Amino acid sequence: METDVTCDVVVIGAGPGGYAAAFRSADLGRRTILVEKASILGGVCLNVGCIPSKALLHAVAVKDAALDLAEHGIRFDAPTVDLERLRGWKSNVVSRLTGGLARMAKMRSVEVWQGHARFVSDRRLEVTDEKGQRRSLGFEQTIVASGSAPIPLPFAPDDDRIWDSSRALELRYVPQRFLIVGGGIIGLEMATVYASLGSKVDVVEMSDGLMPGADRDLVRVWEKRNMARLGSVLRETRVTSMDAREDAVWVTWQDKNGVTGEARPYDAVLVAVGRSPNTRDLGLDAAGLVANAKGFLAVDKQQRTSVPHILAIGDVTGQPMLAHKATHEGHVAAEVAAGLARGFDVRQIPSVAYTDPEVAWCGMTESEAEVRGIPYAKAVFPWLASGRALANDRADGMTKLLFDPDTHRLLGGAIVGVQAGDLIGEVALAVEMGADATDLGRTIHPHPTLVESIGLAAELFEGVCTDLPPARGK
Ligand code: FAD
Ligand code: NAD
Repeated sequence: METDVTCDVVVIGAGPGGYAAAFRSADLGRRTILVEKASILGGVCLNVGCIPSKALLHAVAVKDAALDLAEHGIRFDAPTVDLERLRGWKSNVVSRLTGGLARMAKMRSVEVWQGHARFVSDRRLEVTDEKGQRRSLGFEQTIVASGSAPIPLPFAPDDDRIWDSSRALELRYVPQRFLIVGGGIIGLEMATVYASLGSKVDVVEMSDGLMPGADRDLVRVWEKRNMARLGSVLRETRVTSMDAREDAVWVTWQDKNGVTGEARPYDAVLVAVGRSPNTRDLGLDAAGLVANAKGFLAVDKQQRTSVPHILAIGDVTGQPMLAHKATHEGHVAAEVAAGLARGFDVRQIPSVAYTDPEVAWCGMTESEAEVRGIPYAKAVFPWLASGRALANDRADGMTKLLFDPDTHRLLGGAIVGVQAGDLIGEVALAVEMGADATDLGRTIHPHPTLVESIGLAAELFEGVCTDLPPARGK
């Protein structure tokens, strides 16, 4: 084993940002080494994030849809859940993908080093593998893609009934009384899974609303279906203590007026209060790098940090912490490192909560337009008027488009309903291409589909929609 190697590009971290950067860099003909401290590639997204959560969400969505058919005369026996098989299936999906990555790295001659990377200077890293063996790795450029980790609650005791998202995805058991602290996307996706598997789920959220970032009219549609499935959903409430006793984890919280309720017992507690960047153990000082107060690395449009030959991508660079943003930045960074004229220059980054119903948005949101005082005109197509949504017996949805009132250009859009996460792709493309209401409204969409609702919302804006009653005054 060589102990002192030099290459063109080192990528630190093999998540969706890091592996995309390393593969693109190798495709551009540069000698690239990918350093990953875990023994499996794929980062949070593939191993303990996007993919396992979507596998579980898919399973419970199909189960719930099958049960809903009773309304239409197709009745199944009450389902039994074999947790071990469900767990096994989820792990199989993950390992197919992570195994594929390892093979693709080989095909591209991307060398993978297992180990923890730490800067010893601005041109050299020390990589320590799981046996404690150290190797020195010099580089012309490096791309930091070390990702993020869950933020723990400082007062939470060390107890295996207090979970972070990775633990929740292990699906060890279905707690009867389950508390989720944090009503963000992780909290609500996990609430969807565990409530469907039979837990009584309570949610405690510090701010005045669930699902931060999404417009409130969309969240209300989500709430209509979910409030009856969940136990208590407390907003403007802060958990203040957790006591891990033999019988249960006893939790207390305080409302916005500072009133503390009685302690309540839970069989498991998921803490999903956000994530913080993995920058603490990188030896940033040695490279002349300084993270901001929250630990993120600031970058310019070329993904360069304050040290120009050190680039950074993905969660480590800040919000939004999303896999598709990390991958896009990974391609930009690899191309910039190879000397190409490239920058991160996008009009939108889509967000999706894969709950039931799904909530998705991209470009300008209505709340953002209001806060920033940006003029907009909106069109909302209710799914109650969509033949396909009715045929699916899921008319609980809507498609909202926001337009520039002068140019009629699409500024952004949001969709709540089943498959909203897939549907938002068309809105994303339209925002990116600078499409206007006529482009969308005159595009012939297939019928009967949910994606039609995007064309119909644009027609509504143009005043030419014939699928809804005429606007008053016409
Ligand atoms: P990561 O995926 O965090 O990868 C970083 C890698 O770097 C890790 O493998 C880590 O081991 C390695 N590393 C760290 N430090 C070092 C070091 N010093 N040396 C070597 N290696 C190091 N996003 C979506 O877009 N859609 C979703 O549906 C979605 N679902 C999610 C569900 C859950 C439960 C969670 C937790 C997250 C989800 N996310 C989702 C967010 C998404 O997973 C992240 O935004 C994405 O993984 C970030 O990619 P990354 O490459 O920046 O970092
Ligand atoms: P988040 O920031 O989205 O939500 C955390 C929530 O916890 C917020 O609503 C916040 O107000 C609340 N909170 C914070 N401290 C609290 C406290 N002490 N008590 C009660 N509530 C508290 O974070 P997350 O849900 O942990 O997700 C982390 C990251 O992962 C996000 O950036 C998200 O974008 C990403 N993610 C994305 C997806 C997806 O794209 N489908 C899925 C999961 C996670």
